[in-house]
Amino acid sequence: MKIFIDAGHGGTNPGAVSATGLREADVNLEVALDLGKILTSWGYDVNYSRTDNITVSLAERAKLANEWGADYFVSIHCNSNENPIYGGTETFYYRKGIRAEVLAKTVNNALVRQIGLKDLGTATANFAVLRLTRMPAILVELAFLSNPTEAQLLGTVSFRKNCAIGIANGISEYTNQ
Ligand SMILES: [Zn+2]
Repeated sequence: MKIFIDAGHGGTNPGAVSATGLREADVNLEVALDLGKILTSWGYDVNYSRTDNITVSLAERAKLANEWGADYFVSIHCNSNENPIYGGTETFYYRKGIRAEVLAKTVNNALVRQIGLKDLGTATANFAVLRLTRMPAILVELAFLSNPTEAQLLGTVSFRKNCAIGIANGISEYTNQ
């Protein structure tokens, strides 16, 4: 079973940045690498869009996953909103009624169970990495960097590790491996 892990942003694109300067690209990468380690130890084949702080275009991310022949695509992101009160975990997929919808729900539930933030549920989104990938693909928004409490959590190793464990549990539950 081949899982392609996409750490959002990186290089010239830091993504969201918290009030204290924590960069989404760095959080995403750490969670992605932790997730890969866990899945590898469970017997999955894992590949990444990036394993360092480099720029990779959205089209290139999807192309890498397509060419590798991934069974599933998981993109890791942190959310942000102008209102610092917004918080919680949500997961996106491209279209209803396909396997990605069930994968998104399973992973989101497992992640919320593990990290205990507000469950914002799942929703469809026309994101390039979801649209351009040929396998079931989801995009996980772990928590909000614009929320001071959640940004503080995202800055800790233990919370990021828990994010990876939660996502891994969801993938395992969905794929029965
Ligand atoms: Zn992002």
